[in-house]
Amino acid sequence: MTRRKLIGGIGTGLAAVAISPVLGSPATPQPAATTQAPAAPQSPATSPNLQDPTTKYPKPPFNGQTQPWPGLAAKMDPRPDHGETSYRGSGRLSGRKALITGGDSGMGRAAAIAFAREGADVAINYYPTEEPDAREVIELIRAEGRKAIAIPGDLREEAFCRKLVEEAVSALGGLDIVVNNAGRQQSHASILDISTEQFDWTMKTNIYAPFWIIKAALPHLQPGSVIIGTTSEQAYDPSPDLYDYAQTKAATMNYIKSLAKQLGPKGIRVNGVAPGPIWTPLQVSGGATQEKLKKFGGQTPLGRPGQPAELASIYVQLAAESGSYATGQVYGSSGGAGQP
Ligand code: NAD
Ligand code: MG
Repeated sequence: MTRRKLIGGIGTGLAAVAISPVLGSPATPQPAATTQAPAAPQSPATSPNLQDPTTKYPKPPFNGQTQPWPGLAAKMDPRPDHGETSYRGSGRLSGRKALITGGDSGMGRAAAIAFAREGADVAINYYPTEEPDAREVIELIRAEGRKAIAIPGDLREEAFCRKLVEEAVSALGGLDIVVNNAGRQQSHASILDISTEQFDWTMKTNIYAPFWIIKAALPHLQPGSVIIGTTSEQAYDPSPDLYDYAQTKAATMNYIKSLAKQLGPKGIRVNGVAPGPIWTPLQVSGGATQEKLKKFGGQTPLGRPGQPAELASIYVQLAAESGSYATGQVYGSSGGAGQP
């Protein structure tokens, strides 16, 4: 019986991540130079560096669960993995200054942890009721010896979006990574169930807030800076119950491409991440029906939802200087279904 099977249970994937050395990590012990013949290569089945992506994390069926919007990662069953115990940095964002919206949970938290471990100072925005999740992120960033700035507030307000950027710039001493990641998703079986107020809420959060934040941030962004948006496979293959949300993700994909053309000559790169089904509070606070939640991610070729931790390195790659030829691109991570 393998060590993983012995641990067992729903936390299996998380435990396996915590104990598995990271491929190519600088912390992985390297063999000293030797004149002896190299050891026989390990069979893939027993290599500690290889993990089967189909069994790495929990798969459906999941327990039905619901939380009041916007939900807390801490109350999810199972708890999502944001890379708390697994992400290892190697100085890829040394000295950089990042603002991440929705940085308390989900993809935003995974990016915040990874950015700090790569050497960046990080400001996170979140909705005020998400303070418990945000506190955990702030502590994790500080544990890396990086600056961690918490700026709660409602992104549906233009005045707040401007204040958010100004506070981040002043606390970080500048800004060169802007991640527009916050999002509002509510499932509605029919267009007739979507009130004007709900429609407006989705548009304000997903389309207006990035517009206001980018406008406020632009005067501070020097050549080499980056803007990253979180779009979705929904931009390309919309679900029938996500009429309003899916079109905002198409808009996000589209602004990434127009803005990349506009800002390319100024040396500012604009890119996006398109996740598939990822296990985050957005899904358990109205984003998915209970029926969909119980089978969540099961339809993908990998047979399970993704965890935020599995996307962290994409945000790092798009922010890092080494990715300097990528602009106007959308990088996907959707378990084999969906585009791009
Ligand atoms: P999440 O719930 O962890 O993150 C969404 C965050 O948005 C919240 O934590 C909250 O801080 C923020 N937010 C929403 N409305 C806000 C408001 N009015 N003011 C301030 N903050 C607000 O879920 P997530 O899935 O990590 O979402 C992050 C992004 O990923 C979103 O843009 C979402 O559309 C996108 N996405 C998610 C999935 C998925 O399956 N989970 C798939 C594709 C794309
Ligand atoms: Mg949250």
